[in-house]
Amino acid sequence: MLQLIGLGISPGLARGRALVVRQRTRDVRYRILPDAVASECARLDAARTRSRAQLREIQTHVSRTAGPEYAALFDAQLLMLDDPLFMGQADAFIRDERLNAGWAAVRAAEDIATHLLETDDPYLRERRGDLADVVGRLRMNLRSPGHDGTTDLLRSVPGPCVIVADDLPPSIAAQVDWSRVAGFATDAGTRTYHTAILARSLRVPAVVGLHDASHRILPGALVVLDGASGELLVEPPESLAARMVTRHAARLEEEGRLDALRELPATTADGVAIRLHANLELPDDATQALACGAEGVGLYRSEFLLAGRPIEQLTEDVQYAAYRDVLDRMHGREVTIRTFDAGEEQLGRSSVGPGALRTRLGLRAIRLSLSLRDLFRTQLRALLRAAHHGPLRIMFPFISGADELREARQVLAEAAGELRARGVPPPPVPVGAMIEVPSAALTADLIAHEADFLSLGTNDLIQYTLAADRTDDRMQQFYEPLHPAILRMVRQVQRVGRRHGMRVSVCGEMASDPLVITILLGLGITEFSMTPVAIPAVKQVIRSVDVAEARRIARDALRAVTPGEVKKKVPGVSGEQGSGVRDQERGLTQAP
Ligand code: PEP
Ligand code: MG
Repeated sequence: MLQLIGLGISPGLARGRALVVRQRTRDVRYRILPDAVASECARLDAARTRSRAQLREIQTHVSRTAGPEYAALFDAQLLMLDDPLFMGQADAFIRDERLNAGWAAVRAAEDIATHLLETDDPYLRERRGDLADVVGRLRMNLRSPGHDGTTDLLRSVPGPCVIVADDLPPSIAAQVDWSRVAGFATDAGTRTYHTAILARSLRVPAVVGLHDASHRILPGALVVLDGASGELLVEPPESLAARMVTRHAARLEEEGRLDALRELPATTADGVAIRLHANLELPDDATQALACGAEGVGLYRSEFLLAGRPIEQLTEDVQYAAYRDVLDRMHGREVTIRTFDAGEEQLGRSSVGPGALRTRLGLRAIRLSLSLRDLFRTQLRALLRAAHHGPLRIMFPFISGADELREARQVLAEAAGELRARGVPPPPVPVGAMIEVPSAALTADLIAHEADFLSLGTNDLIQYTLAADRTDDRMQQFYEPLHPAILRMVRQVQRVGRRHGMRVSVCGEMASDPLVITILLGLGITEFSMTPVAIPAVKQVIRSVDVAEARRIARDALRAVTPGEVKKKVPGVSGEQGSGVRDQERGLTQAP
């Protein structure tokens, strides 16, 4: 048995056969069901036929452009495709070991490559390059045309499985058919990575930050994972798996007790009313948000609409329908929709110019929207039209200063003008800025002149203030929500809001941690938006807190010099393990 400990980022128990995905090399490995052998062999054969046709086309082209002697170089690859030792062996792996076709081809090639390496013939040894090329082509052709390989296979895999991946980017995760997947485990990832946020909202149990699990866990192995404790067992004895089930059942019981809170108001022990809103990734989440007791939506991450489809398909009407859907489902409650917080690669746009940097600090979010005015106006028109159906607020991500917000408002005014010209004037819509870039926190007083509300995006604010990548699990020790710098920024922005009579919320993951809610309340925050499932536990804390006491704790915390000292001031935080604010137990252990 193998036991791995990572970071539990989405609670729940998952049990299933491992589907191993090496996203970076697009390598997907799993064991097929016995009745799928014939169709898997047929899939491999079809890929072989396509590969053969492509190689012949390449030969013709090379023969015409470079000469027949160069075209002959591809003879070896064509011969390999018909080699019974190679393809026959791949077929045998499918039939006898029930490997999926891509994995079978890789295994067969590995066997042949070993033999080639052992020969003294330099010509034959060099054929290993051709072999790798042929396998790459076969695997490419095993993916359906037009589909990303991973999502394609994840759709057809026998369930229930546990995805074990090196990484599972949000754009891929958003396309997975989760009804077939019991849970997932990744080598990379942290609590505030968008895939983690998505997992919690989908209620898919998940453990991340496992370092090299995708290499250590064999495809098809039985995996049991606990998304609360971060524990993952491979081929466990029944007694250990049963212990996990018992622990999970106790947690469910506790959740059941919290259910009783759903209808109760989020009011502190000394009578201060607190707003608890939900963060949504998908329109369907609205139903769950209501079930968890959300009073509204504090953050709808509209960029998730981009997953799996090109921006061209997200027409004004398609977007209008999606935004209206959320408003309809929330039945008159306030809905705050954030314009796309996407990078260039998500928009699939090269129109921003060649050589554009594709990093997190490259062109993204409001800056990308402002550089693609037509797309931006399309989104804003869709939002303004949807505003006829409920109390909608528009929020701009990644605002770094008043000028950006001013410019975004200008484009919003243009979009409103276009709708008026069409004879459909929009209603007035409150406009807010996310405060998630340090410069925005420091100039919140200037931004406030241009905004109707502010929302603290602590996930990014922490990452950029402390220079600690939120997606890199190795940086977790530096990613400190309770760093004095973060507390000061929260207090500063809250004070700006109070002076301007403006609502200020916290919509980063900090808001969903019951252990830091007290300090945020003490800093004067009375509005939070979080993943829906976190609402009951946060409400429980709020109902037991006395704000006067929370203020005292916050005052003490603000005098602390280090994150460690801050933690000592906050009840329940110091010495605990498990989330971004607690000391974390990290790394890998292996049980005998
Ligand atoms: C944040 O940065 O805190 C935030 C809420 O936005 P996201 O997590 O989508 O970057
Ligand atoms: Mg953000």
